[in-house]
Amino acid sequence: MSCLAYDLVDIPNGDTVDYGHRIEFGTFITPGNAPATTPVALAQLSESLGYDLVTFQDHPYQAGFLDTWTLMSWVAAQTSTIHISANVLNLPLRPPAVLARAAASLDLLSGGRVELGLGAGGFWDAVDSMGGRKLTPGQGVEALGEAIDVIRGIWDAANRSPLVIDGEYYHLHGAKRGPAPAHEIPIWLGALKPRMLRLIGRKADGWLPSLPYLEGSAYKDGNATIDEAATKAGRDPREIRRLLNIGQLPGSSTDWAEQLLPFAIDDGTSVFIVMGDDPSVMQRFAEEVAPALREAVAAERSVSGIQTGRVRSTIALAKRREGIDYDGLPESLVARAIEPGDSGYSRVKSTYMRGGTPGLVLQVQTTAEIVDALAYARAHPEIALAVRSGGHGISGRSTNDGGIIIDLSKLNAVDVIDEARRLVRVEPGTLWADVAAALQPNGWALSSGDYGGVGVGGLATAGGIGWLVREHGLTIDHVRAVEIVLADGSLVRASADENTDLFWAVRGAGANFGIVVAFEFEVDEVGAVGWAQLAIDAGDTATFLQGWGAVVEAAPRDLTSFLIMGAPRAGQPAVAQVMCMVDSDDPDTIIARLQPIAELGPLLQQSVQIVPYASVMANVQDGDHDGQGQPNSRSGFAEHFTPEFAAAAAAMLESGAVYFFSVRSVGGAVSDIDADATAYGHRSANFSIAALGGNDARLDAAWRILQPHMEGMYLSFETDQSPARLEDAFPPKTLARLRELKLRYDPANVFRDNFNIIQLA
Ligand SMILES: Cc1cc2nc3c(=O)[nH]c(=O)nc-3n(C[C@H](O)[C@H](O)[C@H](O)COP(=O)(O)OP(=O)(O)OC[C@H]3O[C@@H](n4cnc5c(N)ncnc54)[C@H](O)[C@@H]3O)c2cc1C
Repeated sequence: MSCLAYDLVDIPNGDTVDYGHRIEFGTFITPGNAPATTPVALAQLSESLGYDLVTFQDHPYQAGFLDTWTLMSWVAAQTSTIHISANVLNLPLRPPAVLARAAASLDLLSGGRVELGLGAGGFWDAVDSMGGRKLTPGQGVEALGEAIDVIRGIWDAANRSPLVIDGEYYHLHGAKRGPAPAHEIPIWLGALKPRMLRLIGRKADGWLPSLPYLEGSAYKDGNATIDEAATKAGRDPREIRRLLNIGQLPGSSTDWAEQLLPFAIDDGTSVFIVMGDDPSVMQRFAEEVAPALREAVAAERSVSGIQTGRVRSTIALAKRREGIDYDGLPESLVARAIEPGDSGYSRVKSTYMRGGTPGLVLQVQTTAEIVDALAYARAHPEIALAVRSGGHGISGRSTNDGGIIIDLSKLNAVDVIDEARRLVRVEPGTLWADVAAALQPNGWALSSGDYGGVGVGGLATAGGIGWLVREHGLTIDHVRAVEIVLADGSLVRASADENTDLFWAVRGAGANFGIVVAFEFEVDEVGAVGWAQLAIDAGDTATFLQGWGAVVEAAPRDLTSFLIMGAPRAGQPAVAQVMCMVDSDDPDTIIARLQPIAELGPLLQQSVQIVPYASVMANVQDGDHDGQGQPNSRSGFAEHFTPEFAAAAAAMLESGAVYFFSVRSVGGAVSDIDADATAYGHRSANFSIAALGGNDARLDAAWRILQPHMEGMYLSFETDQSPARLEDAFPPKTLARLRELKLRYDPANVFRDNFNIIQLA
C-alpha cells in the first residue's frame, strides 16, 4: 500500500469529496470453512492477480476457524509483495501491547507489508465465552481508543522512556517500547456508529466498513462525522483513508466499475476490498473491474484537478524544523524525504556514534537524486549539511541538529568491471562487510578497516587502515577512479588521467570536495588468512606496549596487528586485546608470526583460526544506528614505540580518562607510496593511535601526556575539529595544496562537516 504524504490543499466543499489517495484493491478471505491451505492459496492468488492487499476475517471464537494472526504470519511468509491485514481484528481478545509487538514484528519480517485493521469487539457474548472481558458497546469504543495509544506507544521505539498508560481498560506500568515497525502501519477501524466514527476522526488512519451494512446515506454521513471529528481534533481529514468492503454488484464488469466510481469520486473511497472466497470473482474483479475503475477515477481526477500523493499528519507537520523549505522539495525527492514526524525517522536520525535530530533526511537512490539533493541543500546555505554513507563517522558529522542529511545508504552496489585487472566498482553506501562478502567468491579482498559495519564512502575518502594494511596498503591506495558530484552539482570523474588534482585530494580529504557516488578499486588476491584474537596480561603496560610495538615493526608485512586497552579496573590486571591477521593460510607461517606476540605476557585467552577475510569482516551487529551524545576521540601517529612513548601511554591509561585506547599497525606498504601521491599525510608512521574518553577536557589532559611522543593525526579518529588540528592532519605542503583546491572546487564551502579545509585567520 502506498504511504501518504502530499501538500495540503482545501477539501472541496459540497457533496463530493475525493481525498486524493491512490486507488487500491484488496480481497477479503475467510479463515475457516475450508482446508487450512485454502486461505493461503487465495492470498497467493490475490498477489498473483495484482491486488494490493489481502485481508482476513477475525472471529477468534468461531469453531474451526484458523487463528487470523497466525494465518497472516504464514501468508506473509508465502507471499512477497501483497500487503496483509485483518478485516478486522477482535481487540478484546488481543492485548494491545502484545498486538503492537506482533504487528511490528510481522511488518519487519515481511518487509513492511502489514496494516492493522481493528474492531472494538461487537460479539460480546462470544468474547465472554472465550474468557474475554464483556463490555458495553460504549466501553468497547473507549477501550479501543486507549488501545490505539498503547499500540502507538509501543511502536514509538525512539522514545527512551518506558511506556506508562493508566487507562480505564489498559494499564501499562513501564512497558519497554519497540520494535518500531518497518513502515508507518496505518490503523484502520471497522466501524458503523457515530461514536466509533468520531474515534476514527480523532485517532485512526482509516475507516473500513462493509457496504452491505451501510444503508441509505450512512456512508456519506459516516464520512462527514469522521471529517468533522478530525477537523475538531486539528487533523486534516485527508489523513484518514476510506476503505470499503464490497460484494459482487449486479451487471457486467463495466457496470460494476460504474457503480463503484461514485464511491471513489464523491465519497473518497480509495481502497476497494472484494468480499468472498470465490477465485473466479477475485479474478474477474482484478482483471476487468479494477482497471476500469482506476482508469475512470484517473479521468475524473484529471478534470477535477484533485491533488494526489502523500499526506503528512498535522502532528508530523508540527515537527518540521525552522529554515527548511519542505514544500520546495523537488518532485524527485518527495518519496526520499524522511522528516522528524515520519515513522522511519528514528531509524535515520542518529549514527553509530552520535545522537542527532536532523530536520530532513534525503535517502537518495540515484546519482541524479544526489544532484537534486545537493541543489536543494545549496539553497539552504544557513542549514547544516551532512553527507552519510555508512554512518560510522567519528570525525565526520553525518548527523546534525535541524540540518539536512544526504543519506547514501541505498547506493550499495558492488560490481566487477574488469576481472583481469581485479577492478571493482563500489557505491558509497556499501558496508565493508558486504564488500568483503562480494569479493570473496573471486578469491579477492580489499583492506578496509577493522569493522564490517563501517561504510565505504567515509573510509575510502579518508584513508582506510585495515587488517591487511601492512601487506596491501591503505584503502585509498587501491582507488583507481572516483565518480564525484562536486559542490556546483556537476558529476565528474577523477583518476590518474582525469581531474588529477581532484583525484589527489579525494584520497585523504575527500569529504571536503564533493560526494563520491562510486569508487573504482583495484583489489588484491587474498586467500584464507590467519586470524588471531589474543587477550594478554599487560599489567606491566609500558613493557608490554614497547614489546608489542617492536615485534610488529620487525615482523614481515604479512602480519598486521591491532591492539585495544581500556581504563584500569580495580582489582583486575590490565588486559590487552590483540588482534592479528596473517596474510597466509600456512599454519607454520601463522604460528611463527604470532609466537613473539603471544610471548609478550601471560596469555589469558587465545583463538586462532584460518578463515576467509570476509568472515573476519562479518563482525557487524545488525540494526539501526542509535548513537547517543557525541564521541570524544583523539588521534595521533607514532613512528616507533619508544620507551618514552610506552611509558607515556601507560601513564595516560592509568589516568582513567581513556576508556578505549586502540593502536593499529600501519607502515609496510603504506610507506611505499610517495608522501605527495595522495592527500593522506604521515605515511612514514608505523602506528595509528586513537583514544576515546567520556569527558572531552579530561581526555585532552590525558592525551597531553602522550602527544609529545607522536606527530600528526588520522582525521578519521579525531573529533576535535578546531581549525588548528588541520595542521596535524595534513603536512604543510599538503594542506596548502588542499586549501588552494578547496577554493577552486568548493568556494562556497558546501562541504564542511568533516575537517573543513579553511584558511586560518
Ligand atoms: C566502529 C568503528 C571502527 C572503525 N575502524 C576503522 C578502521 O579500522 N580503520 C579506519 O581507517 N577507520 C576506521 N573507522 C573510522 C571510519 O573509517 C570513519 O569514521 C569513516 O568516516 C566512516 O565512514 P562511514 O561512511 O561509515 O561514515 P559516515 O558517518 O557515513 O561518513 C563520515 C563522513 O565521511 C564523509 N563521507 C561519507 N560518505 C561520503 C561520500 N560518499 N563522499 C564524500 N564524503 C563522504 C562525510 O564527511 C561524513 O560526515 C572506524 C569507525 C568506527 C565507528
